[in-house]
Amino acid sequence: MIEVTSPIEKQLKALNDELKCVQDYPMDKLLSIIQEVGFECDFCGRCCTREFNDHVFLLTADSIRIKDLSADSLEPAPYYELCDQYGHFYVSGYALKIKEDGSCTFLNGNRCSIYEQRPLICSLFPYMLHREPDEDGNVDWRQIGGIGLHGCYHTEISDDESKEIALQIKSYETGFLMQVIEFFKKTEDHFTRNGLKHVQSVYDREMRKFNKGEEITVFVLFNGDFIEHKVKK
Ligand code: SF4
Repeated sequence: MIEVTSPIEKQLKALNDELKCVQDYPMDKLLSIIQEVGFECDFCGRCCTREFNDHVFLLTADSIRIKDLSADSLEPAPYYELCDQYGHFYVSGYALKIKEDGSCTFLNGNRCSIYEQRPLICSLFPYMLHREPDEDGNVDWRQIGGIGLHGCYHTEISDDESKEIALQIKSYETGFLMQVIEFFKKTEDHFTRNGLKHVQSVYDREMRKFNKGEEITVFVLFNGDFIEHKVKK
């Protein structure tokens, strides 16, 4: 018997596998990496620009908080996950808008103008815990971003502080994966109820139009609802 697996089911399986890997990642290993690297921010502001980070993805709690501060500062996160047969894209969350110079909409000089309210990922960076391919395509864990390219190193970090950082990293990464899993489940349900399906050739065609400057429709899953946006490059 041939097993038929939809693209959404495949994504859900991969995401659930990844979630388990993050949850099972040994805390003592994470703690020792944090202490060994001893990162300290030197307020260069570079991690708030495209030079370091392609975009700042927001967890739903971040989006709710920042929308209240400045509704115009959010946009659908790039790299939309799905596209239906009518050319409508679907994505799992918002990102912060970027200014023309490539810096975050909230970067003022080298300082964050919403520091106390900044997204969780901003308070954790450069720490992270996910797997990604290196230049040679070998997939491995990455725990610190831009190592050697910003900040200061070999600062002493206490056991309590590194434990707190490690717990927050796991909390962010699991929260991120759970948000994306929730997105795929909701979208699968929405597609089933409305006779929709993901079509990769339509995705590619609409992306080509988008890259040439045409407007596209993007639905962002936000707080359980799909919010429609018109997006232009
Ligand atoms: S919200 Fe603040 S900390 Fe986060 S990228 Fe923007 S300026 Fe930087």
